[in-house]
Amino acid sequence: MVSGQTKYKLLRTKYLLPLSDRLGRKTRIGDGFIFIKGEYIKEVGEYNEQRIDDLLNKYGSEIEIIGSHSHNIGTDKVPQINGVALPGFVKGHGHDHESPIIGIAKDVPLTTWLDSAVNLYTGFLHSEENSLTKHFGRSPYLITYLKARIDDLQHGITTALVHHCNFNKYHVDELIEANQMAGTKIMIAVGSQDRHYDSRILDKPATVAVERLDELYEKYKDTPNIKIIPGPDQFFSNGPELLKALKEWAREHNTLIHIHSSEEPATTKWFLEEYGMTPIEYGHSIDFLDEKTFVGHQVHCTENDLQILAQTKTKIVHNPLANTILGSGMPPLQEFKKRGIEFIISTDGSGSADNQNIINAARVATQFQKATHQDATLMTAQDVLERITTLPAQILGFNTGSIKPGKLADIIVVDLRVPNLTPTRVDNVVENLIWAANGNEIQYVIANGHLIINDYQFVKLNVQDILRQIQELSEIFLEYKSRTKAEKATGVREKA
Ligand SMILES: [Zn+2]
Repeated sequence: MVSGQTKYKLLRTKYLLPLSDRLGRKTRIGDGFIFIKGEYIKEVGEYNEQRIDDLLNKYGSEIEIIGSHSHNIGTDKVPQINGVALPGFVKGHGHDHESPIIGIAKDVPLTTWLDSAVNLYTGFLHSEENSLTKHFGRSPYLITYLKARIDDLQHGITTALVHHCNFNKYHVDELIEANQMAGTKIMIAVGSQDRHYDSRILDKPATVAVERLDELYEKYKDTPNIKIIPGPDQFFSNGPELLKALKEWAREHNTLIHIHSSEEPATTKWFLEEYGMTPIEYGHSIDFLDEKTFVGHQVHCTENDLQILAQTKTKIVHNPLANTILGSGMPPLQEFKKRGIEFIISTDGSGSADNQNIINAARVATQFQKATHQDATLMTAQDVLERITTLPAQILGFNTGSIKPGKLADIIVVDLRVPNLTPTRVDNVVENLIWAANGNEIQYVIANGHLIINDYQFVKLNVQDILRQIQELSEIFLEYKSRTKAEKATGVREKA
């Protein structure tokens, strides 16, 4: 039988973390099993010989036993994988177009990095698209997005919000193609901007951005594993009329709206000078903030900002890797907690992060809080684990993020045979995941009931091919970069 194609799957692991309310979010099962039917989880629990025999007798060769070809301990009918099974990670904020620009424009602040890495790279794809497509035999956008899907899966991320900014807003089709090829789930926050940005991509009149959303929404509303929402790049680059129109669209379609906010001090300063308000006060003044508004970063908060965020129930996604690397600062997470402002943890794009190691992001988030507040009790391993699984799944509205019957079968297995995760026991398995794992010990990935990574091998994607093309694409980009001046296309401009 072809791997990953069977109707039923059975998985037995040394430890199982269901992260489900039904069993208790903190439940840790020793010797657990998961039975999958089609796309969904059918049964979860402690391994029980009698029950497993019943399943094997009933479904026989229709069941694929995960890990049966691997070197695992035990000689049972269903071998126990020496690993811990948990829900596939859910990433609340990232940019798939940044996958090839790791290590570029480092040691510079956000706006310089945007201009000389992100905008230069996307400008490169835009102006060289035809010759690159001819050269590679497929769209350079598709290659870029496929690499991003690999980056996610390598780190156990099976569901992601992709904030598709700048030129990428014209390339949603390629992103959806990459997602279907990879077998993941994505929410696409389709970008827009109508001011203070590269003149080639300004949405003028503002109705252009709404029409783009309408078109994409109609086209993909029945496509599985895809959700389309508005994703204006940031408050700075989207004028009030455009923001109001997009929020109205989100309310009409009952979707989230996603935006970068208050990431670094310069834009906040610009808002104060221009409007006499912070970005959050500005968003509030145009009725943009409510429980379906999901903002990226929100590093710099005034007392009034915090009150508005709590009152409007605005949700936040914290990106500690990007915030520290770019020297942006870190958001006041303890204030968020105190005031009941919901937040999750994510990686941001590979260009700023410079990877999609979401376990590392969770670790940096808690480490920073403990050190800053000189309080080791803050943000436990369990707490941050929920902020990369169950909580983001709830915010994004995907039927995933925990392992229980009726949920989509999005499951990862972290390999416990590696030295850095030895010894792992039931009492330290969650703590080891956050504090001792490197974040790339993801031995198996199942998404939507399909086996995507089998004993570290990608089943669906031709990874070597994609990596080779990405390497070459980055070398062609280097040559382009050497002869192209970075246009100051974003960030804070001097007032005329
Ligand atoms: Zn971002």
